[in-house]
Amino acid sequence: MLYDVSQLPGPARVCIYGTGGRAAELKQRIEASRPDLEIICFGDSFKKGGEFQGLPVVNAEGLDRDGFDYIVITSYFYDQIWATLEGLGLAERCFVFFDLAAGTRESAPAKGSALGPAESLEAFEAMRGQAPGQLNFTLTNACNSRCVFCAYKTYREKRQTMDLTTFARIAEAMAGSKVEVADFSPLIGETLLDPGFKDKVSCAREAGIKTLRLTTNAILLGRDPDLPALLVEAMETISVSIPGLAPEAYREVFGVDVYQDVLNGLLLAAEIKAARGRGAKINLCHRSYRPAEAIFHDPGFERLLPYLKQGVIFFDPGDGSVEFDNWSGAVSDQDLLGSMSLKAVRSRPDDPPCEFIVNGSVTVLPDGAFRLCPCRFRDLIHDDLVIAQPGDPAPMDAIFGPVHRQLVTDWVAGRRPRACVNCSLYRPCRREPDSPGK
Ligand code: SF4
Ligand code: SF4
Repeated sequence: MLYDVSQLPGPARVCIYGTGGRAAELKQRIEASRPDLEIICFGDSFKKGGEFQGLPVVNAEGLDRDGFDYIVITSYFYDQIWATLEGLGLAERCFVFFDLAAGTRESAPAKGSALGPAESLEAFEAMRGQAPGQLNFTLTNACNSRCVFCAYKTYREKRQTMDLTTFARIAEAMAGSKVEVADFSPLIGETLLDPGFKDKVSCAREAGIKTLRLTTNAILLGRDPDLPALLVEAMETISVSIPGLAPEAYREVFGVDVYQDVLNGLLLAAEIKAARGRGAKINLCHRSYRPAEAIFHDPGFERLLPYLKQGVIFFDPGDGSVEFDNWSGAVSDQDLLGSMSLKAVRSRPDDPPCEFIVNGSVTVLPDGAFRLCPCRFRDLIHDDLVIAQPGDPAPMDAIFGPVHRQLVTDWVAGRRPRACVNCSLYRPCRREPDSPGK
């Protein structure tokens, strides 16, 4: 795994795998500083022929093995590419290139122009009667971490955990509405603290929910020996937030001394996935002020390196947190460390409703209430964004239903939900870039 062009062995003939921005960037950097490297071609899993940046594009199967010395994978999907190239006997000649600058570059501007308030209302009306693509679940609002960039430190609402009967009822309602994705990424809290989580995973699968996703701090991942195997098998993705992988990083950024627990859990999950040769995409999400380059030298990262190289565990420095969101105003600059900074609040009172509200993105709260927005809240998760109360016999009907509609029309009339007024994650709905009427 490499993160600087000076690390590439030379002299050599190189195939860059990928035909996106990262591949073009790597070509530029090689040409600027490595005259001993000759770029022969670009590799691509989906294109068979053509040109990119003035060089031929070759499909994995069509690569001329004698025509290059090694392959440098630049694509975000390096785990899948590695598996393909391994199947072709090329893994020994592959490097994965992490574009560290990706984490510090301004993110690309959103595509398509923003819908105005009236158009957002029209978009909402057009979606009525439809089911959303997924439901998020906050199975518990209790957490075992104290991340400096999170509102949990000052969060006072009563802690609750969803019971299995409630979950089963909602899973059945989802299946009845053909909602096929359950995402266990909580508004706040740590899903693995739910002692009944394994039963809920089984219950979701029995109900016919096809895709399950989990976001976790992984502190409890290795505590129960059966849990990693179940998750590797049942989840599509397991996203693990990490402050790096060193004891001091956990103490400083996450406020808890849990490095060894997290590492043990990750190693267990990686061993299981490697032995099976398949399983959940285990994605490390960097949440720290330290540059990705620094965390490559963390002891835990070095332990995981064999798995990272093979794509068993996945890490993308571009996914790191350059700017942290403000938790609707609950987190301020004083809470952050080092070079961490807060994303600015860019919405104004006359802006159109947030996309999460118009599109019916819902998180199910621990008591079974349905709440719009799976991202943020101000002080209470039970707030004015709740559209179905606990025990509602038909909670799916609340999505795009009358209470939901009232929230959208209130927003258009200038009355925004409490969580949204000062939220730095606000984003308006956008029309497709090539649709008429821009
Ligand atoms: S960010 Fe997540 S893991 Fe960290 S304290 Fe908040 S809820 Fe817990
Ligand atoms: S503005 Fe923030 S809190 Fe409101 S719906 Fe959007 S992301 Fe959620």
